[in-house]
Amino acid sequence: MSTEDQQSHPASLPAVAAVKPKYEFFKVVQHYLDEASQLIELPPYINTILQQPKNEIIVNFPVRMDDGSIRLFKGYRIQHNNLLGPFKGGIRYHETVTLDDIKALAAMMTWKCALMNLPLGGGKGGIKFNPNEVSRSELQRITRRFFHALGANIGPETDIPAPDVGTDAKTMAWAMDTYMNTVGQFFKQAVKGVVTGKPVASGGTYGREKATGQGLVHCITEWAEERDFDLGGATLTVQGFGNVGSNAAVILSKLGVSTIAVGDHTGYLYNPEGFNPHKLQDYVKKHRSIAGYPNGKAISREEFFRIKADIFIPAALENQIGPEEAAALQVRLVGEGANGPCSPEGERILLERGIDILPDVLANSGGVTVSYYEWVQNKRSETWTLEEVDTRLEKAMKRAYREVIEMARQKSCTLRLAAYAVALQRIASAYGEREIFP
Ligand code: NAD
Repeated sequence: MSTEDQQSHPASLPAVAAVKPKYEFFKVVQHYLDEASQLIELPPYINTILQQPKNEIIVNFPVRMDDGSIRLFKGYRIQHNNLLGPFKGGIRYHETVTLDDIKALAAMMTWKCALMNLPLGGGKGGIKFNPNEVSRSELQRITRRFFHALGANIGPETDIPAPDVGTDAKTMAWAMDTYMNTVGQFFKQAVKGVVTGKPVASGGTYGREKATGQGLVHCITEWAEERDFDLGGATLTVQGFGNVGSNAAVILSKLGVSTIAVGDHTGYLYNPEGFNPHKLQDYVKKHRSIAGYPNGKAISREEFFRIKADIFIPAALENQIGPEEAAALQVRLVGEGANGPCSPEGERILLERGIDILPDVLANSGGVTVSYYEWVQNKRSETWTLEEVDTRLEKAMKRAYREVIEMARQKSCTLRLAAYAVALQRIASAYGEREIFP
């Protein structure tokens, strides 16, 4: 601090800025669980079980870095619930990863799989580090050591990881290969389904890469039909231009929606004429971010949230739309590509201002749905065409959308609570039938 700064503070005031309270994502998810449980009168013992994950796995593993040094990494795998089927959920590589956030994301996977009527439970994993700061070969060694450390905690009939923030099809190919090489050569082909979101040549499915964006677009088109809103000529802003955000923008562009502002971890860009989302997607694949993309004006995060558009897709991280952002947004619809992008206060303000929200548990469940299709194809040694995958996904998304809308109507609640409620009813039926062991 400069002398001038020091002099400007009266001696009695602390010189440190007020620390923003930490956002407690897991508590937020537990709170929604409570609210939805009350709404459908969920037997209290089921709420008690679902409040905490079944297993919390933490592994510390060493990795040799390119300069010869050894760095210790901490990896998490949270297995929330497997009543309906094996645990299922992505692996996140990001410097903000915490155990509690992974617990929140794992619980949300339980609701998503139940809502989509998939025979799967909920899980999530991650490592706290910045994947942009390591080389490709370091990334590969980190991934392989992590999956080796997870060992028999995962498996095609136990727990099936997939990509999330900071991971992609290439990460999944390394993960599958590592797992295959630990089970012995005779079983190699039988365990392809240990992860989903793989490259097609390595046992992935057509349509998985765009699946989350595609599912979100199905929800948006349903919303537009209901509201009698013409998507042709509509405008879009997108925060996070990775897998979910870029694919949603590309697919929406085919419906005539123009992407006028984008942002990621490096900054925000504005182009009132509309970006070419294909070109921007290719640029991001090559350069790992939107930084340096020539066809847009750099703007601040605050300016981004004030841009007037029809649709906003948050597709980055949780807690991006707090009270300030919710008060600033000038859109008709927020389609949650990301998990947990709206804080509860942010959500309340958006709804008060008449802005619709397509909630994460519904809106981004296309990813896990197509992951399920991949898993089924691996089990049966089948390859479905892109048309088959797309047709099934469209049907599944539209059914879930209608179920959520109907629940919201019956219970006069938000779409978020309705999505939780549909999922919880399905889980409650299974607990009711089986009861608790022993
Ligand atoms: P990704 O790694 O492909 O992209 C993440 C994007 O977020 C990148 O553009 C990155 O730059 C940006 N980002 C990271 N930190 C940021 C910050 N502080 N501010 C602004 N932008 C930031 O990840 P993804 O798979 O597209 O996942 C995005 C979101 O969608 C996550 O919430 C994830 O949980 C959710 N989701 C993903 C899938 C899937 O199939 N990949 C499925 C369902 C939900």
